[in-house]
Amino acid sequence: MEIDFWGVRGSIPSPGPDTSQFGGNTPCVVVRNENEPLIILDAGTGIRKLGLDILQDPTVSEIHLFFSHTHWDHIQGLPFFVPLFSPKYTIKLYGPVHYSKNLEQILSQQMEYTYFPVRVQELAAKLSFHDISESELNIGNSINIQSKYVNHPVVCLAYRISHNGKSFAYVTDHEPYRNLFDDGVESEREEGRIVAEEQSLALVEFLSKVDLMVVDAQYTSEEYKTKVSWGHSAVEDSYDLARAADVGEVILFHHDPDRTDAELQRILSRLQDQSFDPSGRRMVPVRLAKERLIIKL
Ligand SMILES: [Zn+2]
Ligand SMILES: [Zn+2]
Repeated sequence: MEIDFWGVRGSIPSPGPDTSQFGGNTPCVVVRNENEPLIILDAGTGIRKLGLDILQDPTVSEIHLFFSHTHWDHIQGLPFFVPLFSPKYTIKLYGPVHYSKNLEQILSQQMEYTYFPVRVQELAAKLSFHDISESELNIGNSINIQSKYVNHPVVCLAYRISHNGKSFAYVTDHEPYRNLFDDGVESEREEGRIVAEEQSLALVEFLSKVDLMVVDAQYTSEEYKTKVSWGHSAVEDSYDLARAADVGEVILFHHDPDRTDAELQRILSRLQDQSFDPSGRRMVPVRLAKERLIIKL
């Protein structure tokens, strides 16, 4: 299994000299498995260049695109994904939905004539839309994909992908469940605490022992204090999640748009210093997500 990063930034694209090392494109991650269809996670602006890359690869014809959720930064690149305009490709789009609209309606709206010159109905690829919730799917010959809701202001799914004994988890736009009771009224706190604990345990179980986890790490713990319930995690919380789930390696992802390359390096160094454990408990290796980083499992 190969994981290939095309967009690692959260919230809004942030190109410029301060972010050129890690990249300014919004989320898009590719999962490749030999002799299996291509899997793409999220269609942030990183998907534009990925689309051009796919056109150069004669082996790709079937693409499965999974959305964590439909916030702007995760769908914005879709109209610029060139395989959509070619009849050569079969593209299946999956994602969680909310309110009264299905995935096709949500994605079509950003391609209405007011916003974009080509409409979904005019796209040449063979498209299908699949509304999903917590589920388990099998794709290709032997890819297994499980999904689980995480803690975000709109419904948002984490994915766990397994193939040939290797596993990978994608957990973006999530914050620890403790906001469910931290800011509640006194009488509801105990109930909130129990729910939060149950949800946390279920997530740890879902992620248990994956070889690689990509995880939301938008804030520092200091910044998080003023951003509770915004749906993103502090770096330290994400690292704790990785340890609790005993993952093989953790990749910090969904970088804040204001975060410079130098700040990202400092955050990583600080985390690596803090996470030294004198008791000898296994430490989880940690890296920063970066555009065009490729990890083979
Ligand atoms: Zn996001
Ligand atoms: Zn979001």
